[in-house]
Amino acid sequence: MYPIRYHSDIVENIPKISNVKNVDSEEIAELLKSKEVEGKIHTIWTFKTPYIGAICNCDHTGCLLFHLKNRYKFADIILKGHEIAQIDHEICIVCGKCIKICQFNAITVVDKKTIINNNCYGCGVCRTNCPMEAIQLLPKT
Ligand code: SF4
Ligand code: SF4
Repeated sequence: MYPIRYHSDIVENIPKISNVKNVDSEEIAELLKSKEVEGKIHTIWTFKTPYIGAICNCDHTGCLLFHLKNRYKFADIILKGHEIAQIDHEICIVCGKCIKICQFNAITVVDKKTIINNNCYGCGVCRTNCPMEAIQLLPKT
């Protein structure tokens, strides 16, 4: 079995929860957008499906999800979205910003073209941060 008992066994510096306040939907939308610009992905945690426990915004550096997925190989801890990123190669300048910001190693350069691979979770962070607006999210076929 896996030797995990507490979150603190996995994530060393769990942030303190403080300054809790009520916010309206516009504030939430702005906050989510600002997190995307920082490269943070949004995940909905259900804990006991279908009840939503949290909307989390983080990246691989301090996230319980990524620790479980990457270090302990809990592949099913996160489900892929219904969409997948697609790059318009007529617009893309191969700057590499999307490669650096993708949390799933889903973008590579092949033959001088930026390519999305099967690791894409459809989080949209690359789309938000592409300086050329060359990335769309499209429904999976
Ligand atoms: S960030 Fe945009 S322009 Fe830069 S490599 Fe990615 S898709 Fe191309
Ligand atoms: S949409 Fe896909 S390719 Fe873009 S950042 Fe998210 S996982 Fe990576």
